[in-house]
Amino acid sequence: MLESCPFCGSNAEYEFDSGSYGYRHSTVHVKCTKCFAKTDTEQTENWERGRGMYSTKDEAVKTVTKKWNDRAPQRNDRELKR
Ligand SMILES: [Zn+2]
Repeated sequence: MLESCPFCGSNAEYEFDSGSYGYRHSTVHVKCTKCFAKTDTEQTENWERGRGMYSTKDEAVKTVTKKWNDRAPQRNDRELKR
């Protein structure tokens, strides 16, 4: 479950990039639908010699979800004191 954007409070969503086989890994990150703040990109597939492509999609989604939620709305001290 994604928290709302820490910057503008809008909805956030997962953005998947299917990549390009052999050139670019498939990735996922979380992005705000309004201000486009986003998390780091995580690979949803990894290449391992001798094993070929294997999916780490669940792990990647979990990671970006945590990254996004960890920086969810922080109270603005200045506003609280006013
Ligand atoms: Zn935002």
